[in-house]
Amino acid sequence: MNLRQSLLALALTSVALPAVAQEVNVYSHRQPELIQPLVDAFTAETGIKVNVAFVDKGMAERLIAEGTRSPADLVLTVDIARLKQIVDAGVTQPVQSDVLDANVPESMRDANDQWFGLTTRARIVYASKDRVADGEVTTYEDLASDKWKGRICIRSGLNDYNVALVAAMIAHHGEDYTRTWLEGVKGNLARKPEGGDRDQVKAIAAGLCDIGIGNTYYIGEMWEDPEQRPAAETVRIVFPTFEGDGAHVNISGVAMTKSAPNKENALKFMEWLSGDEAQRIYAETNHEFPAKPGVAKSELVASWGELTPDSKSLSEIADLRPAAVKLVEEVNFDG
Ligand code: FE
Repeated sequence: MNLRQSLLALALTSVALPAVAQEVNVYSHRQPELIQPLVDAFTAETGIKVNVAFVDKGMAERLIAEGTRSPADLVLTVDIARLKQIVDAGVTQPVQSDVLDANVPESMRDANDQWFGLTTRARIVYASKDRVADGEVTTYEDLASDKWKGRICIRSGLNDYNVALVAAMIAHHGEDYTRTWLEGVKGNLARKPEGGDRDQVKAIAAGLCDIGIGNTYYIGEMWEDPEQRPAAETVRIVFPTFEGDGAHVNISGVAMTKSAPNKENALKFMEWLSGDEAQRIYAETNHEFPAKPGVAKSELVASWGELTPDSKSLSEIADLRPAAVKLVEEVNFDG
């Protein structure tokens, strides 16, 4: 290289370097309020700006349509089926990271490094303190038994969370058993499926039903809202199990897009989300179970006792999603 070429090379480097903004772009299925405390803490620590776009529906379709022009670096979402849907659409890339491998237990990340779980939530029973005896709630299978006739409230069977629960039932017992089980649960409902998980708690408080099916963290949200807390105080949290196994859990997680324009910062944010501080924020502000072993649960979540998660793999459950949807429709669960 002669002097002129060297000077030119130097000029090009000095132009290219400072022009890169320190940022990372996130498409989030999760409510912006949930993500904000994490974003603020990460930016304060690293100086990297995080831009969050809330994408309610059609995440995979949007990433496919945007292709290599997509500004998105990361996708944050709940439900293993949604994570897999994005991976199956071919819009993510594998991420090799010793930090992620150390922080996220193997059962909570993809074998091909395409997605990583950040938190766990269990789908459990909200039980009326007044009308449900200790030990009365046992297994998910038992929810179809006659003793619950007219006593159960639940949201739509086609909601993602319920579809995952039905898929887990198929993983344990097969489709025929699960069809009969769904008919049994439907026959035990106090009212047609409606509302969200919190509405089932409110229905129990109003005396419409004795138990409801819902996710753990909604009780945390209601607990912190002065208007909803009285309803939350009328129920106990019970972790039902699959016969001889554990409670149904799902995850929230993260994946890197195939075209991530800010790959290095995206990796930093992913690793940070799996670390102690972010995991503590997830536990305290959203009452989820942290993925990282050893990070403390919130006081409220700890008060519910130990969670033993079901041993069926989340990938298997996600693969059974179409079969689960079919059964829910077949028995006209919501009708
Ligand atoms: Fe939710």
